[in-house]
Amino acid sequence: MLDRLQAQAPDALLALIKMHAQDPREDKIDLGVGVYRTNEGATPVFRSIKKAEQKLIDEQDSKSYLGPEGDTGFTAALMPYIFGEDATMGGRIEGMQTPGGTGAVRLAVALAKAAGVTRVHMGVPSWPNHAQILADVGVETVPFTHAKSDGTADLEAVLAAIHGAGPNDAVLLHGCCHNPTGVDYTLDQWEAIAAAFAETGVLPLLDIAYHGLGQGLDEDVAGIRKVLAAVPEALIAYSCDKNFGLYRDRVGAFYMMAKEASQLPAIVSNANALARANWSMPPDHGGAAVRNVLRDPAMTKEWLEELDDMRARMRRVRARLAAADNEAPGLNLAALGDQNGLFAMLPLDKDQIARLREDHGIYMAGSGRINVAGLHAGNTEKFIAALADVTK
Ligand code: PMP
Repeated sequence: MLDRLQAQAPDALLALIKMHAQDPREDKIDLGVGVYRTNEGATPVFRSIKKAEQKLIDEQDSKSYLGPEGDTGFTAALMPYIFGEDATMGGRIEGMQTPGGTGAVRLAVALAKAAGVTRVHMGVPSWPNHAQILADVGVETVPFTHAKSDGTADLEAVLAAIHGAGPNDAVLLHGCCHNPTGVDYTLDQWEAIAAAFAETGVLPLLDIAYHGLGQGLDEDVAGIRKVLAAVPEALIAYSCDKNFGLYRDRVGAFYMMAKEASQLPAIVSNANALARANWSMPPDHGGAAVRNVLRDPAMTKEWLEELDDMRARMRRVRARLAAADNEAPGLNLAALGDQNGLFAMLPLDKDQIARLREDHGIYMAGSGRINVAGLHAGNTEKFIAALADVTK
């Protein structure tokens, strides 16, 4: 039976990690893996999280089961940061904890399908797992162009997707810090997107995986708040794995916004049933640590400072790359200064990417995606010189 299974292609990024690890060059640069790195190239546990974990160890008195909704203190504590002052929109939003943002995306798609969605429009390129999840849940992906060649978002394409969507269609958008392009919609563009959703009644699926890593905690969700203020219902997937540095602890949340508060229990009961059949309940530890951070003013302050530092560092790297626009003509490095988050796409061909790896020890995805956080004061000049070399 099992010998009927065909081997799957190995994950390209994991293969890249292996190659990077085996490269003996001291000054090699890893721009592949999608995690934040400090100026020293490390991905440390946040200080605020360390304190919150200590508090958890000291105070947690049971590890007995929670329900499929997980830690509701965690999902509630996050809500003001995502949705603003009226965090439940008049009782119309409820959340549940999920295994990472991935679990939240999966639940959003599965719940949309249970409600009758058969197709999801999605800007491409996107996080590769979006298409995999849609296929696995059994929903058709309808692609549209996310970014234009000048490094800005293709507003016409997303508006055409929303206006062209059928009654059983949903549209999936990244809330901020688009993966893999770094290209986000401007606030004016979000305004137009919100109006299109409102006019058509198409269901928005909003994926927020890098909240606070772009322009600021409020700025990064200003766009999705415009959508939520304009539409009757929406599904929101959220990850704490980047903005709390919890990656392997798998910390995510899934929020449902209903037309009316009275409809929420039925919707939530469906999401609970789907979660139950998928993973029963989410891992507790990371969500509980985030709850501890957000309920303690001193820890919250420290978390906000840590997030500010991360964001400021990535903005500095982006500004340096943008200033090097002339040094590697044709790559439009200038656009990186206005883009957001960990990622950017460089229009390099396969040959140039191979030369960066072989001649310069610089590792990046075959798509030309770089993790901006892999660059720091000690290696950015080398990277720019290497780009100049392979593009001359
Ligand atoms: N959505 C997007 C756009 C992502 O880039 C990621 C992670 N890289 C996720 C969701 C899921 O994040 P995680 O499961 O690691 O929390």
